[in-house]
Amino acid sequence: MSPSAPAAGADAPDWIVLKFGGTSVSRRHRWDTIGRLMKRRAEEEGARVLVVVSAVSGVTNELQAICDGHADAAGTDARIAALVQRHEDFCRELSLDPALALGERLAALRALGADPRRAAGGLDWQAEVLAQGELLSSTLGVAYLRTQGLDVGWTDSREWIHARPLPNQTDWAKRLSASCDYTGDAGLRTRFAAAGPSLRIAQGFIARAPDGGTAILGRGGSDTSAAYFGALLGARRVEIWTDVPGMFSANPRAVPDARLLSRLDYEEAQEIATTGAKVLHPRCIHPCREARVPLWIRDTERPDMPGTVIDSSATTLPGVKAISSRRGIVLVSMETIGMWQQVGFLSDVFERFKAHGLSIDLIGSSEANVTVSLDPSDNLVSTNVLDALCADLAQVCRVKVIAPCAAITLVGRGMRSMLHKLSDVWAEFGRERVHLISQSSNDLNLTFVVDEGLAEGMLPRLHALLAQSGAMPVSEAAVFGPSWRRIDQPATLRPPTWWQQQSGRLLHLAQAGTPRYVYHLPTVRERAREIAGVAAIDRRFFALKANPHPRVLQALEAEGFGFECVSRGELEHLYRVLPALAPDRVLFTPSFAPQREYAAALGKGVHVTIDSATPLRQWPDLFRGRDIVLRLDPGFGHGHHEKVRTGGKDAKFGLAAEALPEFLDAARAAGARITGLHAHIGSGIHDARHWHTVYAQLASLAEGIGTVGFIDVGGGLGVAYDPEAEPFDVAAYAAALAEVKAAYPQYALWVEPGRYLVAECGVLLLAVTQVTRKQGLRRVGADGGMNALLRPALYNAWHEIVNLSRLDDAAGDACDVVGPICETGDVIGRQRRLPEATAEGDVLLVGHAGAYGAVMANRYNLRELPQEDVIDD
Ligand code: ADP
Ligand code: MG
Repeated sequence: MSPSAPAAGADAPDWIVLKFGGTSVSRRHRWDTIGRLMKRRAEEEGARVLVVVSAVSGVTNELQAICDGHADAAGTDARIAALVQRHEDFCRELSLDPALALGERLAALRALGADPRRAAGGLDWQAEVLAQGELLSSTLGVAYLRTQGLDVGWTDSREWIHARPLPNQTDWAKRLSASCDYTGDAGLRTRFAAAGPSLRIAQGFIARAPDGGTAILGRGGSDTSAAYFGALLGARRVEIWTDVPGMFSANPRAVPDARLLSRLDYEEAQEIATTGAKVLHPRCIHPCREARVPLWIRDTERPDMPGTVIDSSATTLPGVKAISSRRGIVLVSMETIGMWQQVGFLSDVFERFKAHGLSIDLIGSSEANVTVSLDPSDNLVSTNVLDALCADLAQVCRVKVIAPCAAITLVGRGMRSMLHKLSDVWAEFGRERVHLISQSSNDLNLTFVVDEGLAEGMLPRLHALLAQSGAMPVSEAAVFGPSWRRIDQPATLRPPTWWQQQSGRLLHLAQAGTPRYVYHLPTVRERAREIAGVAAIDRRFFALKANPHPRVLQALEAEGFGFECVSRGELEHLYRVLPALAPDRVLFTPSFAPQREYAAALGKGVHVTIDSATPLRQWPDLFRGRDIVLRLDPGFGHGHHEKVRTGGKDAKFGLAAEALPEFLDAARAAGARITGLHAHIGSGIHDARHWHTVYAQLASLAEGIGTVGFIDVGGGLGVAYDPEAEPFDVAAYAAALAEVKAAYPQYALWVEPGRYLVAECGVLLLAVTQVTRKQGLRRVGADGGMNALLRPALYNAWHEIVNLSRLDDAAGDACDVVGPICETGDVIGRQRRLPEATAEGDVLLVGHAGAYGAVMANRYNLRELPQEDVIDD
């Protein structure tokens, strides 16, 4: 049964253009989806439907390999035979007879192998070879959908899409990275409608070259074909169907916490695509924008998800929308040989790029140097081309090529007004070598060029920093949809938190006064048992500075934890709470503490850690005959914020490994014995392999010392403060530790987590004092701020904030949540979507406040300290 053609006038926007990428056309059930979507658009929207397809997955790569290896006749034949086989197999999966469905097309493919033009590998021959993938897939699709009862016509894209040479375009680009005309008119639309049924399939990627032959639109060009058709036909919309449900705030494969971007305007989408998001070909946006055709991005495997809508009516929202990256960037750095500020230098060098047909992307310049980047997606940046360019440039300057590099770009409106929110991002780049920084004049992008190998690892961290700092306004639900992780693995969605289950009880507790911390001991035990379940760990200690509440200490003692103290005050507090605790279960790890604290700890018989030779030299008698633990600095730092990184030259902690011989001499002279090595280089670390590295480093040093019996790899286990973020992977942590423990079985493995055990168990309850609006910004005031919870002010830490009194209300406008302290920095959270009705007296809950919460509270402004409650069921 085929849907009847709508009888719309020739000029009505009849057409909807759907584009399906390689993965979307490589399986039978996906072709069923394509057929269903075509039918639905025809029946429900009365539209004519043009489907534009890519080649079956992997086929274009093979065709490219045939082009690259054109000189090798036998290799070409083997590749062609494999491609024929692949398509014949796919015919069988689609219950089609290969000879009937594809006979002619496969013969054409074979003929190209035997073509006399092959040996020379001319560009026209290459274009024809590359075109075969789409010709095959579109032919297959038509044949299959006809067997499914759809009246589908096959359209040759080359009849409608014509390449237009650009000024200074190289022959390569004219043939293999072509741009095309896309201004349509009523005549064209009439002719197109008359040329076949109202359901049509055409090829992406290919166009008619000016000489009548075939031209190619460049890698990923099928999106652009769809856009050209959309513009030519004045389509209702162009839908790009792919393997992710939209454009994300970063490549979801590299950054699982990337968020779906539900709405974008053309300019932002253009910038995100140009700077690397492969999901849309950068050339596909312009035609749609000019013709005012909306672009949708949808997922073939999740056809009911709304995806991304790109049009001109998206509301503009300042802030970083996405972070993207491009690999294979080549930097060319040029130093003037002549005078500074020499007139005409730029024109001299740019002239030479033009002569080689190279288009420049980014530029950085000083009086004597100009550095530019070349993007491989616009250019043929082969070694030959680069060598020729450099030889030419050498006539006017000293030239250096830096490659391969990667460009990492932050995209969003109003980039310049956001620089102050990017301090953590700058700090992250500050640790790496940045070759070039560029801020575009359209105020939409900020780009950093680094060595290629660095980019991949930086993206998830940068994305997290952007979200935490508020530079990326992820709480704006009109723009930011769910994270890729949530969409991809809904089964791993976390169960309701303890406080969601106990909200009534918490509201009741809040009546006794706020600010008030509440701790849930079953949650503490749950985390404790996870650590206890890691087989490689021999002994575990709780770093009690995170939360010294007596009930927490008792609970952890009962779970088999010892304790790590960092001051005499903590030691005394611990023994007041747990008087019978064996000294062997206590570590004392002070930092720059006075002698009397060491004396007190040694007097108690607990394990004492020192991290420089100074205490041994200043107070040798104190350490005579004692066992000591040595804290080493492995030389690098990690963690969620500069202030929690405790390794590296800038950190005050730990003995540098090169000072070890000197330390051993001092220990020998004082008569002290080193029984353990310790390192702790930061907090909030999510990479489970990290402790593996630390342990291996310490173990190799321990071998040289001889008296070491245990290795303490510290804590620092990351906590997912954002409910969207991934919880710490304890299984990976356990596996990494098991692996390294097997390599050094002679040492006992000790750990000392703090935050991980208690962060989740605690919430801070606050009462709303006043809600104001100033110049459009809503502020929700609370009766505790940086006095009750210092982390947001001190570390820019992000904590979840909810209105506990109105948990079921819809999210409202974004607002800032502020405390009562007379400091501008007294902000608990920015851009939070608290319900519109939020009002005086409501109870706010700040999540994950069990670590470094109450214990860091202070009496600044002479406000009272928060109170604390414990729930144990
Ligand atoms: P198709 O074959 O359907 O054209 P592509 O592989 O060209 O698909 O594009 C989809 C891929 O783009 C996704 O699988 C994803 O890995 C990648 N991608 C890169 N950046 C982004 C981003 N910001 N948002 C969504 N996808 C992205
Ligand atoms: Mg693509």
